[in-house]
Amino acid sequence: MLVTGGSGYIAGETIRQLLAAGWTVHTTVRNLAREAELRPLLGGTPETLKFFAADLMADAGWAEAAAGCTHLCHMASPLPASAPKNHDELIVPARDGALRALRAAKGAGIRRVVLTSSMAAVAYGHGRGQHRFTEADWTNVDSPDAYAYVKSKTIAERAARDWVAAEGGEMEFVSINPVLVLGPLHSADFSTSLEAIKKLLEGSIPGLPNFGFGVVDVRDVADMHVRCLTAPDMAGERFLCSGRFLWMKDIAAILKAGLGDSARKVPTRRLPDWLVRIAALFDPLIRQVLGELGNERDADTSHARQKLGWTTRPEEQTILDTARDMIRLGIVKV
Ligand code: NAP
Repeated sequence: MLVTGGSGYIAGETIRQLLAAGWTVHTTVRNLAREAELRPLLGGTPETLKFFAADLMADAGWAEAAAGCTHLCHMASPLPASAPKNHDELIVPARDGALRALRAAKGAGIRRVVLTSSMAAVAYGHGRGQHRFTEADWTNVDSPDAYAYVKSKTIAERAARDWVAAEGGEMEFVSINPVLVLGPLHSADFSTSLEAIKKLLEGSIPGLPNFGFGVVDVRDVADMHVRCLTAPDMAGERFLCSGRFLWMKDIAAILKAGLGDSARKVPTRRLPDWLVRIAALFDPLIRQVLGELGNERDADTSHARQKLGWTTRPEEQTILDTARDMIRLGIVKV
């Protein structure tokens, strides 16, 4: 079994679950020097967990990583904290890296591929307001709301699906499209998806903007990947992976109610939309997500619940586990 991007947040949890279920796991990292730091966090033994060097931007190492594997989870993809100047900085590694992983998988005779796509490939460019998305929806990459990361995930998933349809032969392709992934942390090297919780806990935003996201626990995301590797009849499948949609004010209220004094810096004031628009004039990151203001992007996950028997844990538990680990690991000083 090959899991790409073994240094990643979701990959780490998936590898731990796969090892616990008895799989032998190959994983890629850009730099093999990271093996020493990652191995204690991931578990396994040198026989059950093997590291390979491979970069999404280069051909070297992919064939070696895939050799001897029957399944691929392709998770590596850039998820930067800042907006790149050029969209290709994200699109090219996301798309070309997925194709490199797929070609290596075909060369190794891998029969099932699970791609970690994103809600970013589903829910953007459909106008403002309230939407409930299903697996039939695709992001419109020509919309001004489709910022670089959103484009990179949409283009990569489409390219991977098209490649498998044209070149994959017997290969079965499944994508998983998670919303914002939160949950327990095993090291202080944390994914960009946890930034919102960090900012709330350290009080670095003056109030609560009218932004919201679907939230899902990393343990449930990993569990969906494991299920997709073994469930029957997966060719061409696509699964939205989400818990409830929560506004920033809901997340702040959960932190306040669950953390007591540790949540004293979490803001309680609402930030009016006009103030967020002014802030966006000066901050490129806020500008990037300005189209999100007031949008309620809900996900219908009945397909995964019915076909995979997948369930989610309460969002309150996910958010409080995230916050407690951020405090424990010294990522935030409260
Ligand atoms: P993460 O912790 O930032 O992991 C990203 C992984 O991609 C890291 O292992 C990183 O390696 C690797 N990577 C980035 N650029 C690379 C390159 N050029 N060559 C090789 N590897 C490269 O992010 P994550 O949250 O676990 O995300 C994993 C996957 O889930 C991604 O495909 C992401 O788009 C998707 N996803 C995440 C969320 C979320 O909220 N977290 C939601 C939906 C979908 P380094 O450690 O070397 O940088």
